[in-house]
Order: sequence, then C-alpha cells, then structure tokens
Amino acid sequence: MSALPTPIRCNSRPRVGGLVVPWISYEHGGHATFGTIDPVKAHRALAHRLCQVCGQRLEERFCLAVRPMDVRIGFAPEPALHPECLAYSKQQCPMLSGAAATYRTSSATAKHPAGRPCDDPGCSCPKIAPDEGHSARSGRPADDFDAWMIDIANYRLKKGPRQPNVLLGLDLAVPVLRIRPIRRNPRPDVAELLTLVRSLGL
Ligand SMILES: [Zn+2]
Repeated sequence: MSALPTPIRCNSRPRVGGLVVPWISYEHGGHATFGTIDPVKAHRALAHRLCQVCGQRLEERFCLAVRPMDVRIGFAPEPALHPECLAYSKQQCPMLSGAAATYRTSSATAKHPAGRPCDDPGCSCPKIAPDEGHSARSGRPADDFDAWMIDIANYRLKKGPRQPNVLLGLDLAVPVLRIRPIRRNPRPDVAELLTLVRSLGL
C-alpha cells in the first residue's frame, strides 16, 4: 500500500525524521517525544474539540482510536482526530500500524527529552510529566484498536462523577457512524496450543 500524503492540516507541524510530531506530544526544551501525551494539551483538546495530531478544530465528523478497554469503561481517554489525521497516524504511529509490539517504557518518557534529568529549577516539567496512563501502559503489550467515526453533534465529554472539572475523555455511548479495525494483535491459536501440549505428553 502506498503511503498517504501528509494531511495539509499538518503542514505547520514540526517534523522529526520526516514524521509529523503530533500536537498533543509532550514537548520540553524545544524537543517533542513521540508516543507521549502532554496532559495539559490533552485537556485543552478535549475541552475545545481540537484534533490531537494537527491541533486544529474538529469539523463535521471526527474519529477516535478505541481500544477494547475503552469500550468497557465507556469512554475514550485520548482526544479525537480528523479522519485524515487518523488515516495518516495509522501509517506513521507504531502503536496503530502494528510496528510496535509494546508501549514505550516509562524510562523513555519520564526522562528529559534530551536524555538527561531536567536540572532547570524554573522548568515546569514535573507538573506536566507524561500522564499516568502512559506510565501504567509502559512496556505492556500493544492493544487492539478500532477507528470510530462520530458526528460532531455527538461530541460528548465524559467528566469525573464527583469532579466535573476533570475531563475523563469522550463518551462512547453515542451513535457511531462507522467502526473499522485499525490494529489486531495475533492471538494464540487454541488448536495449535492443544497439539503442542499433547505432543509434550502434558
Ligand atoms: Zn487533525
């Protein structure tokens, strides 16, 4: 499959190694780290209906990258994307394309992007350190992902039950226009496993 062109919306975004740095990435000292999320930007994107890749406002339809665990809890914790920004991410993001088998380790995201601890006392990095979700996912096997397309009229924020100022993500209990698989991880074949167990005399 030939590579999709970079969305025009992303032309103003900085690039590293030819790849667009998502707007939502954690940036520090002029460096962005792929695969990280700045929780301050995530909150702003959710609240103002911004795309997490290009940072521009969503339009009539938006997409979400949804994991099975998101369906179980009823909301997608990460901000939405334009359909064309998701199409681009599907090719370029190793978690969505299937190139990465595990999430980045926390040591990769907890460090100053320059590769050393931050020693600037005026720096705000402890307050905007990569989010807890990334720490929790660190090193874990990659999830399955589906692309959900939703009408902007059904853009609904999920808020903390006792803390309405806390935005948990986007409500998934809304009408969905389309669901398409993005990534499916290989599952162990039960028949193959049984054959193996028998061959071992277990
Ligand atoms: Zn976008």
